[in-house]
Formats: sequence, structure tokens, C-alpha cells
Amino acid sequence: MITILCLLVLLNVTIAKDVFTIGGLFHEDNYQAEMAFKYALERYNMFNHDIEFRAQIERVTKTDPFAVSKLVCSMVSSEEGVVAIFGPESKEVDAMVKSVAANLEIPHISTHYLTKTTYVSTTALNIYPDYEMLATAIATIVQNMDWKTYMIIYEDNESLVKLQDVLKLTQADSPPVTIRQLDSSEDQRPLFKLIKQSGESNIILECKTHRILDILAQAKEVDLLEYFHNYFLTDLDAHTLDFTVLGTNANITTIRLVDPNNPILQNTVRDWEMGELNRKQFVSIPPTEVTTEAALMHDAVNFFTTAFQELHITEPIVANKVQCGENEKWEGGFRITTYMKIRPFLNALTGTVKFNEWGKRVEFAVELIEIIDKRIEKTATWYPENADHLNFTRSADEQMQQIVENLQKTIVMVSSRIGPPYLSYRKPQYEGEVLEGNARFEGYSMDLIDAVSKELNFTYRFFLTADGAYGTYNKKTKEWNGLIKDLLERRAHLAICDLTITHSRRSAVDFSLPFMTLGVSILYSKSKPSERNIFAFMEPLDTTVWMYIVSAYISVALVIYLIARMAPGDWENPHPCDQNPEELENIWDMKNCLWLMLGSTMSQGCDILPKGISSRMAASMWWFFILIISSSYTANLAAFLTMDKMAPSIDNAEALAKQTKIKYGTVDGGSTQTFFRESNFSTYARMWTQMASAKPSVFEKNNADGVKRVLTTKNQLYAFLMESSQIEYEVERNCELKQVGGRMDSKGYGIAMPVNSPYRSAINKAVLNMQEDGTLNLLKNKWWKEKSGGGCEESDEGGSSADLKLANVGGVFLVLGVGVSIAFIFSIIEFFWNVHTVAVEQKITHKEALINESKFAIKVWITQKRTSPGSESSSKADDTSLSRKDGNYHDSLSAHRQSDT
Ligand code: ASP
Repeated sequence: MITILCLLVLLNVTIAKDVFTIGGLFHEDNYQAEMAFKYALERYNMFNHDIEFRAQIERVTKTDPFAVSKLVCSMVSSEEGVVAIFGPESKEVDAMVKSVAANLEIPHISTHYLTKTTYVSTTALNIYPDYEMLATAIATIVQNMDWKTYMIIYEDNESLVKLQDVLKLTQADSPPVTIRQLDSSEDQRPLFKLIKQSGESNIILECKTHRILDILAQAKEVDLLEYFHNYFLTDLDAHTLDFTVLGTNANITTIRLVDPNNPILQNTVRDWEMGELNRKQFVSIPPTEVTTEAALMHDAVNFFTTAFQELHITEPIVANKVQCGENEKWEGGFRITTYMKIRPFLNALTGTVKFNEWGKRVEFAVELIEIIDKRIEKTATWYPENADHLNFTRSADEQMQQIVENLQKTIVMVSSRIGPPYLSYRKPQYEGEVLEGNARFEGYSMDLIDAVSKELNFTYRFFLTADGAYGTYNKKTKEWNGLIKDLLERRAHLAICDLTITHSRRSAVDFSLPFMTLGVSILYSKSKPSERNIFAFMEPLDTTVWMYIVSAYISVALVIYLIARMAPGDWENPHPCDQNPEELENIWDMKNCLWLMLGSTMSQGCDILPKGISSRMAASMWWFFILIISSSYTANLAAFLTMDKMAPSIDNAEALAKQTKIKYGTVDGGSTQTFFRESNFSTYARMWTQMASAKPSVFEKNNADGVKRVLTTKNQLYAFLMESSQIEYEVERNCELKQVGGRMDSKGYGIAMPVNSPYRSAINKAVLNMQEDGTLNLLKNKWWKEKSGGGCEESDEGGSSADLKLANVGGVFLVLGVGVSIAFIFSIIEFFWNVHTVAVEQKITHKEALINESKFAIKVWITQKRTSPGSESSSKADDTSLSRKDGNYHDSLSAHRQSDT
């Protein structure tokens, strides 16, 4: 009997546990945290036989801190006392509890976000990450997002504290950031409408977990939750929400401390469910829905009990009651919290737990996650020891894969503008064919996007930008137009046409790698063969000059005639053999004077020449005059006959800049215009001054209008400054056009997309592939050479300068023909006149005379003729009389002179 009793006592001693009470203060809605607290202690008790912790759970209000402080006082003054107090969550109440616990030196462990303003004591610990370090983590993440602009939407001032480092970031790099507070009412639509108008697509949302879905749903209502919108939710519990209800493909990123895939968490949750089941309560908690607070509570309890046990083993801790307001302190409290501050707790649900001397948690890991439909993908982790960096968990390829998958789920909107060969309206194949959607268009841009879409396997829809502009920034309105505006206002995911990558556009949107390289050059028209004037030989001298020459000819002939009458030298002996002639003869009648001058005019000379000094002087003056006139005429004639070469000609930009006759312009509002406007190079700056001041305007709405103007402006007085690729296309199609000079710069066309578009690398890769496999070349050939009328032969402009065409010299032939014809008519008249004279002199009928004279005329082998009718032979001497009758006195005279000598 005694032995049994002894055994019982012994057993009692061995199974006797030190029992300690831990207070847990929870609100009605902290059910998960309460379970975590309860079952963490239960599990501890289950496996530990030395110490037993009793949970004293109290449900407290959020609104009455005073009542809670009274409750805490009653808890601590109970017989067994409390060795620690956990909770509550509400900040106001928590502050009061903290204050009471601090006075009594009872460890108080919080599990929620606390800022600097919150009361800190030596026995208070907060297992929630330190607010300053959390702010650093958020800032590092934002920095890694590489957003050029973003908007912060916050709930209250405390939320701003969480974003304090992000705000510092923006101050340092000064990217345009806008900060907006959520409306105090539930309706956030006006705020989102404003954001939409601003075109911002990167949003940091800091608000309480339960508000997130409602706020995002409102964003969706104003189309602010589309594919290209990026949201960063800074709440640590955002991942517990079901985003599928939003049906969005926006890019939502958030952070968490708890990984639902952690097996410890999954076991813990099972414990909770089992525990509840034992209490006849059925709860189902998916690990994905475990709140940060519950996980932190679990970790806090485990950490505390572990530390407590370790201390208790070394030196037993004695719990005793303490009274509020009595200046009593519990001796064990300080010891426990100090120990917890130096001892890290590993493998907790929320990573390693480590406190600093102020009881703030300084070791934790923040996971960056992306919410993709129902899936949650961890993309990176932030650790305090490497606060400026993120450890990315996905490889670049995996990230790209993910992005492409997202792209495949959306219809990619492609903004463009009409401008062949990049995009033009497709002609219906048969009458009545209705073209819709993408089928309405065709062109290089279309084919390019089509090839990219096939490579990345996405669907796309082309639409035309409202104003048809490429995209220029208006400094006055501070707005972009054209394609760039479409991207900024998120109407389009991509913009493609002959859109040049420029510095200013790059500041507003992103560009892919260039798919075509080019430079500004000059489009000009080839000189057209001008309307030839067959009397072009008259053109070297002005009509007035011709008239003056004719007048001078007649007047000088008259003067010579008069001079010759007076000059004794011109009165000659008609029979030089007769030394004393009875009479002298003067050959200078008006007809001979005109003949003398005409001979010299035509550079043919004349067989009679004046002999008098004065007449010779007058003749020499005429020769001098005519020498100068004919040399000038000859010199000018060459130029006039090759008139084309005299057309205005330019061969480069310098030549264009130096002259003012040929006007030149660009597309209005394009990069070419900007190139000249902003150029510091003197030639281009001068060109810009000329263009800007030209009236009427030299700028055209689009390239097609520019080309038309080049073609239709008379006398080649307009040149169009255009990009070389486009010039190539036009020159290929219109043989009257040519490119003048080389490229003035070097740039490229790229596919534009909103800044930070996640799919940029994928598009780049596709463009690069197409470049390497020759697809881009094929496309260019197709649209430049094969399609719609390419193939203009290189033609020699204007012909060679040496060839004078009939048109140039036709007039001379005409003069010859007409002159000879008139001479022939005259000869006929002379013939008949001679017939008449012969008939009268020889007293024969006109008919006989005509027959006789005709016989001589027809018999071309007879070269001599008698002066009497019918005879077929004659002497040369007799010729004189005939000649005399003909009136060709000077000819016979000269013949006589020659025979005499
Ligand atoms: N491709 C040009 C642009 O993107 C148009 C031009 O100025 O020729 O603005």
C-alpha cells in the first residue's frame, strides 16, 4: 500500500508541469489570428511535458481602449498572473495595452503594422516587419519595376509612411509621380477617371485588404484595369484575395511574407482545422487565405514559448500577479524580452524572426508576387541584408514566357496611319466584297505585325489613329498627338508605320529595335524636256535687237550707197584697157550695197568691194558691228539650244540651302520637320529658317501631298525633304522623280509601345529574328518593288548635252526650205519675164519663146546658149549681152575684169 502511494506521489511529481498563462486579446474579426494563437499553444502543450501554457483569450472591442486596459489589469492581477500578452490588432487599443504592459514589465507582443508614433517600451516586441525596413523593401521593388512615371493612391497618412522611401526615390530621380488619396466615400470612380485622363498606367495602391477588390472593380469600370495597366498593391495580405472575380488581365503585383506553399504553413492550417473540428466547428482555411497576422501570431507564440522554455530551463521563471497602478513590475518580463531580442527564431512561417534592441523585427523576407488569373507566381524576394536588390526567382526566359502568355490572352490593338507602302486600304477583290477589321488594310506594317504575331502567337487588331499624325509634342498644350497619343492613352498596345525613333518620342513611349534604317534626303523632280521652239535660233537675240539689226542693215546700206556716190574712189573706169574713158561708172547702187552688207553679215564676203576711203570706212564699221553681233549670237545660240541644262539644278542640301528660287518643305509635324527645327548644323538651321518663313507654307500634311507638290510645281521649283526609304518607294514608282544627294542623318523606324511594356523584349526578339532570317528584306522587296507598280527604269535625265534634236534646229531647216522655195518661185517669175523679153526682142510669139527657152532649161547637159533663138551653141563673150539683159551687170563686169587681167 505504501509502495503504491509512493509511486503515485512520484508519478505526480514527474508529470507535474509548470503552468503559465498567456493573454490573447482579439477582436471579433480576428478569427484566424485567434486560432493561430490558440492552436500554437495547444500544440506546444501537446509536445512539452515541463511547461504548460494556458491561453486566456479575451475578445475586446476596437473602440474602447479604456475598457481593454481595465481588462488587462484584471488579467495580470489574477492569482497566476500572465507571462505575456498578445494583441490586439486595433492600433488605439493596442497602444493602451502596450502602455499597461510596459508599466508592469509584462512582455507585450504585437503582430501588426506599427509606425514610429506608436509607444515603444523595453518589454514590447512587434513581430510585424519594421515599418522603415518595409518601406525600403517597397521602394526597392518600385525601383526594380523601372517605371518612368507612376501614381500613388493611398488610404491614410499611415499608408504614406509605408511609402516614404518611394517618395524619397521620386525626389532623388524626380520622375513625374502623382500622389492621390482615396476618396473618403466609397466611390473612387471620379479619381480613376482623372487618372485615366492623365494617361497614367502604373499605379501603387496602398489600402486595407478588404477595400482592394472593390477599388479595383471601380478602376475596371473606367477601363483602368486593362492589359497594359500595372498595379502594385503594397498590402501584405492582398494575395489572399480572389482576383479572378475582376476578370482582368492587368498586371497586378503584390508582396507577401507568407508562402502558402510552405509545408509548415499547410500543416499549421491543418492543425487549426482539426482543432476546430474537435470543438465541433467546421472550418476550411485554404493556405492561400492565411492572413499575415495569423501567420505572425503563430510565429510570435512559437518564438515566445521556445524562448520562455529555454530561459526556464536555465533558471525557472516564476509567474506572479501584479497590480496596475501599484508600481509593481513582473521580474520575468524584462528577462524574456531581452532574451528574445538577442535570439533569432529560425524557420518560422514568415521566415527568420529577429528583433533589434527596440523590439522591432529586422529580419524577414518579402516575396514579390504576380497575380496571373488564379495563379500566383513568385517573381523575386527582398532580404534586409541586401536592401537595394531583389533576388529574382524566375529566369529571364521564364519571365519572357510568362509575358508572352499574357499577351496571348489579349487582343493586341495596333494603331497606325494610312501611308503607302506601310499601310493602305485594300481594294475589294470582287464587286460587293465588304472588308472588315484587319482585312480593310494591307501594307508593310500589316505584314510586319502579322509576322510578329505569328511568332508570338497573339491576335491583333489594326485601327487608324484619329488625327492621322505620327506624333508630335505640343509644348503649349503639353500633349502628344497621333500614334503617340494612342499609346499614352492606352488605346493601343503597339503603334506601327514609318514612325521614326526620336529622342523626344522615346521619352514618352518605348520603341522596339529598328526594323528599317534610313535618313532624311531630298526628293526632286527630273527635268522635263521643255517645249521646243523651232525658231529657237532666234532666241539668242531679243526681238528688239533683231529689229535694230534689220534697221541698222538698211540704214547702213543707205549710208554706204550715199557715200559711194560721193566717194571718187568708187567711180571707176568701166573699160580698164581704155586709159581715157569717156565716162566713169559707179557700181554701188542700192542693190549692191545691200548685197555687200549681207555677204559680210553671213560671213560669206562679197565679190565686189568698195574702193573709196569713206565707203571702205563705213563698210569696215559694219563689219566690226556684225563681228560682235554674230559672235554674241553664236555664243548665246549654244546655250539656248541646250536650254534644259539651264533649268535650276541642285545636287545636295548645301546647294538647296544656298539658293532661294527652289522652295522646299517637309511633312508637317513629322520627325523630319523636327530634325530641321532642332538642328544646330548651320546648313540645316538655315534651311529651317527658310522653310519656316516661306509663304505659302512649304509643309505638307503627308508624304503623298509632298510628292504631288514636287511633281506639279512648274519649273522644278519645289523639293521635298523626305525619309530615304519613302523616297526609294516613290522613285521606284514615278520615273519623273529622283533622289538628290545622300542621307542627312541616320535613324530608324521602330514599333512603338507604352513605356515599360512587358512585351517589349518579346517584340524585339521577334524583330531581330526577322532581320536575321531575311523576312524584313523580303517584306521590303514585296512592298517596294513587287507590289503596286514598282519598277521604274533608271533613266538618263534630259539626254546628253551634245545631241541637238530636230526640235532644236528645226527652224533653221524651215528657213532654208522657205528661202529656197521663194528663190525657186522667183526663178520661175524671172524665167517667164525672160520669155516675154525674148518674144518682144526677137519678135516671135510668146509660145515660141517659151518653147525655146524651156528647151534650154530642160536640156541640163547644154550649158551654153546663143543669144539668137534656136541656136544651141554660144560663146562666152556673148554671154555678156544675155547677162546684161538679165540685169546681172556686176557679174558680167567682173567676168570682163577677170578676162582682161
Ligand atoms: N517618319 C516621320 C515621322 O515619324 C515622318 C517624316 O517626318 O517624314 O515623323
